[in-house]
Amino acid sequence: MTQLDKDMVLAALKHIAAPDGRGNLVSAGIVSDIAISGGNVMFALNVPASDAPKLEPLRKAAETAVARLPGVAKAIVALTAERAPQRQPGPRAQQAGELRSGIPGIRHLIAVASGKGGVGKSTTAVNLALGLQALGLKVAMLDADVYGPSLPKLLGLSGRPRAAEGSDKKMLPLENYGLKVMSMGFLVDEGTPVIWRGPMVMSALMQMIRDVAWGEIDVMVIDMPPGTGDAQLTMAQQTPLSGAVIVSTPQDLALIDARKGLGMFQKVNVPVLGIVENMSYFLCTKCGERHEIFGHGGAEEEAQRLGVPFLGAVPLDTDLRIRSDAGEPVVASAPGSALAEAYRGIASRVWAALAEPGRSKPAPRIVIED
Ligand code: ADP
Repeated sequence: MTQLDKDMVLAALKHIAAPDGRGNLVSAGIVSDIAISGGNVMFALNVPASDAPKLEPLRKAAETAVARLPGVAKAIVALTAERAPQRQPGPRAQQAGELRSGIPGIRHLIAVASGKGGVGKSTTAVNLALGLQALGLKVAMLDADVYGPSLPKLLGLSGRPRAAEGSDKKMLPLENYGLKVMSMGFLVDEGTPVIWRGPMVMSALMQMIRDVAWGEIDVMVIDMPPGTGDAQLTMAQQTPLSGAVIVSTPQDLALIDARKGLGMFQKVNVPVLGIVENMSYFLCTKCGERHEIFGHGGAEEEAQRLGVPFLGAVPLDTDLRIRSDAGEPVVASAPGSALAEAYRGIASRVWAALAEPGRSKPAPRIVIED
């Protein structure tokens, strides 16, 4: 059988008329770079922001045509707009496919959050970002944990951001493993105590989003500070998020922390893209047995009960911890490992939820029972 490739996809798209009626999608030059990963094919159609709502049938037609090709398990087509919208309505008010963040150059902002600290939120955020990158996306990361920034360490980055050339004086993000990264850790000396008042945190954060020369970014992954206090709620509210990912260990899913995380995003109408179960089980390298230390399996059922997608489980793994602590995240340093595969799976489910209009729904109403 012929191997699925970009030319086959382009050939199929040549049969679909361009939105202005002149030529086809390919000759009109509106097809983005095409990412093929396994049987998944992903690309965008670049259209004027104002036309996006009425071009949904075109998007669907492109998706259907590609899905019919041999070897395609799933086709995901998004409409993207080159220009940022004039106004900046909240992400919910905009049509799917526009620059949802309202920030020029950045298509999606997603938050990675947890009900409490130490559940592996930052580790998950980093490997999710690298997994999204493996799908062919341009990915950036923002460390919103101004109290205890972890991205410099997890990504092996240090030093100060330089100013970009030109008159707008934007900062250049630091870069490693192909990810563009900004963290308060680059601006403040380690060991210097920083006391932040709430409004300062928010303005520092907005500055790190808006005053950095990010370039064109498909997804910016924000590592949120742990917990669900007022600071986190304000962040969730004031950052134009496309969605949120909740990280939880099996035992606190059974408890209440993860639900608090869900509840927080529900309050501010940010769609929860799903739950990642971290430290799900322990695969013993000596005996080869799977030890379900924290009572594995509950997360999937719990997610179902709460009406949010289950994005995947990541085992408790010593190698993962060693690599993380050394600034060599597993998806980049051991791409062939089962762990990397797990993170890429999580990333493709996150991207599917972002790219498919209507698929991610607002967080369900959470009832916390005593
Ligand atoms: P959080 O951001 O929730 O505070 P971190 O991502 O910083 O958590 O992780 C806390 C510690 O747990 C780190 O030392 C990290 O390497 C380790 N860790 C995270 N996930 C795993 C895992 N699946 N297996 C083993 N260690 C893990």
